[in-house]
Amino acid sequence: MKVSETNWQQIEAYLKTDDRAILPLGSTEQHAQLSLSVDSILSEKVASDAAEPLGIPVFPVVPYGITPYFLAYPGTISLRQETYIRLVRDILDGLRLQGFRRILIVNGHGGNQPAGSLAIEWMADNPGTAVKFHNWWNAPQTYAKVQEIDPVASHASWMENFPWTRLAGTTLPSQQKPMIDLARMRVMGPEAVKAYLGDGNFGGYYERPDEEMLAIWDVAVKETRALLEGAWA
Ligand SMILES: [Zn+2]
Repeated sequence: MKVSETNWQQIEAYLKTDDRAILPLGSTEQHAQLSLSVDSILSEKVASDAAEPLGIPVFPVVPYGITPYFLAYPGTISLRQETYIRLVRDILDGLRLQGFRRILIVNGHGGNQPAGSLAIEWMADNPGTAVKFHNWWNAPQTYAKVQEIDPVASHASWMENFPWTRLAGTTLPSQQKPMIDLARMRVMGPEAVKAYLGDGNFGGYYERPDEEMLAIWDVAVKETRALLEGAWA
């Protein structure tokens, strides 16, 4: 259940029976022709779809993340690492204060990895809690499914083009973009990154049939759900 569609009495009743919660992490950054909110849309939706049959609350997605490399692209917002860590720590503290003890963080953006290190530190500071940090798109089964369909897949390519992240009225290139050199990109400042990447796709086709995308989604939802149902200690 989405917390945004829940009242406090329902959360109070839930906490008498369970202590699991989900926190999705997103980002607001360029995704070529796709929505600037791809990482937020996908992490929140995979979390909600995974949690739905279990009735576990899904807190609102954190819509901003750490993405300094894309700052030259209009619409991209990046939080500083210190800010981000403090923000996520305050949310975890808040969840604990409310009585949640088992927290699944569903992360949708690679740059948010510092929150994964924070989660380990936070558990050590808060005995009796368990936090799983789940990068949903590169978890083993989901990543294997992507590779099986098309190994040339990357940021803002077809692998992020779902019915819920594409925008009406946009035209997508039909050719397969060659993979960029990530090592080169990592030493560039934001302006150079934009000049190097062009539209922002890191490599691969821009779209694939919905049938394939829904098959990937199905694997991702099940893989995420297994973490909620699996062992926590
Ligand atoms: Zn993304």
